[in-house]
Amino acid sequence: MTLSENVVLVTGGSRGIGAAACLRAAELGHAIMVNYVSNRQAAEEVVAQIERSGGKARAIQGDVQSEADVLAMFAACDDFGRLVGLVNNAGVVDRPQRVDEMTLDRLNRMFAINLTGSFLCAREAVKRMSTRHGGKGGAIVNLGSAASKLGAANQYVDYAAAKGAIDTMTVGLAREVATEGVRVNAIRPGIIDTEIHASGGLPGRVAEITSSLPMKRPGTADEVARAIKWLLSDEASYTTGAILDVSGGRAILP
Ligand code: NAP
Repeated sequence: MTLSENVVLVTGGSRGIGAAACLRAAELGHAIMVNYVSNRQAAEEVVAQIERSGGKARAIQGDVQSEADVLAMFAACDDFGRLVGLVNNAGVVDRPQRVDEMTLDRLNRMFAINLTGSFLCAREAVKRMSTRHGGKGGAIVNLGSAASKLGAANQYVDYAAAKGAIDTMTVGLAREVATEGVRVNAIRPGIIDTEIHASGGLPGRVAEITSSLPMKRPGTADEVARAIKWLLSDEASYTTGAILDVSGGRAILP
């Protein structure tokens, strides 16, 4: 079997947790499809890093909120090899706002990228990996957030709610395809040191919140990626419908 026969698609694989997940998933011997929306250079660097380690990878532009882009991304995966994994990682936050200030445009974008995009990608992945559709099985890992339990009041309740729906989708889809060779799990990261906080207008968020975290430090993207790698791997063969907190103890209560 050649490397190119087993493909894992990581949405938002160009930076942060997604980039780390690409590198870790490549260690499983899978070829990696690195999705990005605008930062081609970052995606190409992830591809180059994987290739330097002897793996195979390609970069593909695509916005997960566009059905046409999602279909094109999965067509590119088909061209690369056989899909065996999806990491539904692409996600965004927005500027801190109360719910009574949120516009329809903001809400639509937040749900389109963080929720509908994950559904569209999961749909296409199941069509390829489920034995019901002639596939040979695989694994889906969804990125939720500790925000789904905390609620993110005065910051982004919309984001937290979208991530709450990711938890629910994970459980429901896992049961739907449990006999079809496809495992579906989610990871709920806590505060992870990536650029997402600055992109939401809070570049100092990680530093400000650090002293209140149980471990008195944020997590790294690679600490999340190692859990993603495990959930993608056969080591997790009896794990489905699970939601794993990788949060350093933050928000571990239901
Ligand atoms: P990040 O550093 O901001 O990176 C975001 C990634 O998503 C980039 O690769 C970006 O591509 C891509 N992306 C953004 N919008 C996209 C779209 N519409 N279509 C396709 N790709 C898109 O984010 P992160 O911190 O690594 O977060 C990754 C995931 O973990 C997200 O789902 C996030 O909600 C979740 N999470 C993060 C934290 C945290 O503290 N960091 C905590 C809980 C959950 P470009 O490079 O092209 O812009």
